[in-house]
Amino acid sequence: MLHAIQVHPHDVRDEGAELVVERIVERAGLRVVAPEVMTIEERHPYPRGELPHNPRHRVVVTEARLEVPIGAAAFDGLPFRPVVSQRALAGDDYIGELARVAASRGVRMVPWIKALNGAFSGQAPVQQMLNGEPVPTWLCPSRPETREYLVRLVEAVMERYEVDALLLDRLRYPDWSGARVCPQRLLTCFCDACVQAMSKEGIDVRRLTAQLSPLSHADHDPAAFVAFWRAYAEQGPTEDLRAWLAFRARAITAVARDVRAALDVRLSGATFWLNLWPPSFGWLLGQDMRALGPVCDGAKIFPYHRLGGGADLAGLVKAVSPRPSEQEEVFRAFTQALGLPYGLSFDEFQVAGLPIDFVGDETRKAVEAFGPRRPVFAGIQIWDTPLEEIPASCGVAKAAGAGGFFYYCYGWASLEAIDVVGRVASSVR
Ligand SMILES: [Zn+2]
Repeated sequence: MLHAIQVHPHDVRDEGAELVVERIVERAGLRVVAPEVMTIEERHPYPRGELPHNPRHRVVVTEARLEVPIGAAAFDGLPFRPVVSQRALAGDDYIGELARVAASRGVRMVPWIKALNGAFSGQAPVQQMLNGEPVPTWLCPSRPETREYLVRLVEAVMERYEVDALLLDRLRYPDWSGARVCPQRLLTCFCDACVQAMSKEGIDVRRLTAQLSPLSHADHDPAAFVAFWRAYAEQGPTEDLRAWLAFRARAITAVARDVRAALDVRLSGATFWLNLWPPSFGWLLGQDMRALGPVCDGAKIFPYHRLGGGADLAGLVKAVSPRPSEQEEVFRAFTQALGLPYGLSFDEFQVAGLPIDFVGDETRKAVEAFGPRRPVFAGIQIWDTPLEEIPASCGVAKAAGAGGFFYYCYGWASLEAIDVVGRVASSVR
């Protein structure tokens, strides 16, 4: 079984690489660490609470910056490049520091790279929502320059740190969360290139946009949001929706294929792991696990049960309607469309999240989609959760066929939770 943990730049910068690695090895008993190469727009921890063992910050808000000093030359000839953080611009290489200490303790490092989500300067081919507004921090997967950028980024990171595996995250369309919760962000990409490509594939874009428009006004019209998802749950997708979802899935799989090819050709077949939404959600964001399986060497899914799947389900419901009287219906319609069978009320969900069964159920679906040759690693929520739910989540994930666990995450978890991870890692083999 693989046991790995994810770390953010501020964990290492604020605590020091020595202490982080010591805790990961001594307390958590782990030998694999995945450091974040580029941050996203995110409150740490999310969505609430404080960083329990950070000596300098109670809360950190990140802004989607490249956090390692990769020179601009890596992106020569492209019309855009990632925005590099001030620390990295000044030469601070937190992953290099972590790598040095990790190597001395026999810890394997797997860079955690964000694919399409980041802050960019220049003419970035960003996604466009149905209402015409751009999503400035998400690249359009259909554009060749996006794919070229990602391949260059992956190569630069892999070569700089001489690692033999990577975890590729955010290879998908945007969800509703970000700097703020925005339900309309589910409706991308309608840039000129995508509209043209969809039309060419026989999608009637006018009819499609008419069908999606109730979601485009979701935060003004909760009843339309409920009606849309209720119809989806009862009748399944219309032909136009089905074609749109398939178009998105093909675009995402094509980008994964480009990365795979680059790894095979120029990085001698490095191990390629994807970081995917749980299957009940992934289809909505362009992640078709059956198609992605053959392209990668395995994947982590993140059924963080307390949060509600991996993103902020409660945040979505509240963004669609601020009125508690309507929230129950919004929650019910959306979770029914996702096929989540737990019969929870929104109030119950807000208190305790989804049941631990969700971790097992999603792992089982992912294992089934991937087949026996590629491992599925379960992302285990170790923050904002009762400690006893950590081994319980691992237990159901293992029973469902998980090939290991990615504990999420070092900086958000209490030291007590890190100790629990240590007990799990030594007993679940
Ligand atoms: Zn597009």
